[in-house]
Amino acid sequence: MSEILNVKYNGEPCYDIVFDKSFEELPAKISELGFTNRRFCIITDSNVGPLYAEQVKGLLEPVSNKVVVYELPEGEENKNLTQINKVYGFLISEKFDRHDLIIALGGGVVGDMAGFIAATYLRGIAFVQIPTTLLAQTDSSIGGKTGVDYEGYKNMVGAFYMPRLVFMNISVLNSLDGIQFASGFAEVMKHGLIKDSDFYMWLIENMYEIEERDPETLITMVKKSCDIKRAVVEKDPTEKGDRALLNFGHTIGHAIEKYKNFELHHGECVALGAVAAAFISWKRELLSMDEYYEIRDMFVPFGLPISVTDIDEDEIINLMHSDKKADSGSIKFVLLKKVGKAVLDKTVTDDEVRAALKEITWTEDFE
Ligand code: NAD
Repeated sequence: MSEILNVKYNGEPCYDIVFDKSFEELPAKISELGFTNRRFCIITDSNVGPLYAEQVKGLLEPVSNKVVVYELPEGEENKNLTQINKVYGFLISEKFDRHDLIIALGGGVVGDMAGFIAATYLRGIAFVQIPTTLLAQTDSSIGGKTGVDYEGYKNMVGAFYMPRLVFMNISVLNSLDGIQFASGFAEVMKHGLIKDSDFYMWLIENMYEIEERDPETLITMVKKSCDIKRAVVEKDPTEKGDRALLNFGHTIGHAIEKYKNFELHHGECVALGAVAAAFISWKRELLSMDEYYEIRDMFVPFGLPISVTDIDEDEIINLMHSDKKADSGSIKFVLLKKVGKAVLDKTVTDDEVRAALKEITWTEDFE
């Protein structure tokens, strides 16, 4: 039996997030939205397509006019307008009209791209998200942010565009490799740290089951994580206020990601950024020393780094200042007032950042 959360937009019920252990209920959920006798285009990527596209296509054929599959080359380097152009061409050649449906089957890259295509093709056609990475299930598929990178600038072109349904089949996480799973977990941990100390404690208590990818534990974890993100995006759908709290760990994390030329995974950089932000929070006496060390050490059993080598502090600070989220010179930082309560702060100095970077720089005597 599926579990469901509903996400509101501007106070009105907008779309369901369905949590399940297979794809079996997907056709019924799509039919319930009134999409019968329409054409469906499943947009996927070259890793996910061979694993799941045929199964999803087979299930959807009885409730559609025609199902076609478009396979994007996998990877962030393909999240660009050149690839988007090719998909527009494909949709036109398949005579997709405004009543048809786009289905994103993949991780955050596919979800962001398919969502952007849906937002712009014929000035907007409906789309459904079927997220297949832990990051996409707990974070990127919710909230309606879509878009692509532009000449090295991440997510520079895009739109807020809500899906009609988000359908999670937890079992697809079994084919995800260890580092992708860990990378997504950084965002889960972030949700607990910024909004819900009970959830953070639950993650620690269920560490073994999470690592083992026990389906019941994963459904509970993904659902809770989605519920936290749901509450944040409902309150601030277009990132004018509270939604910025989701950037906890991302201010320094993004700068490290860029500095390391995207050689580290996003979640690894978020973990490093979260440790640095927690360190600043401790130094400002918002967190106790024990809380800081506990937060730092909790990333380790989930396969996430808490230290990094070979970084140039000044270069990272420069990158932070040039980030598009920097607000007329001052950097919007997210600090922790306590575990489960994040606050926005624009007064963090370069010296505080420098000290935090020193803290996460690996040295021989790092515990
Ligand atoms: P991704 O989509 O590149 O997926 C990671 C890798 O895993 C890819 O190689 C993919 O092919 C593969 N994969 C996906 N599902 C799989 C499965 N079930 N089994 C085996 N392999 C699988 O990366 P991601 O981490 O999911 O998403 C990152 C993207 O999400 C970034 O572009 C980022 O900007 C975006 N993002 C968007 C939001 C938002 O609110 N829209 C939020 C956070 C991140």
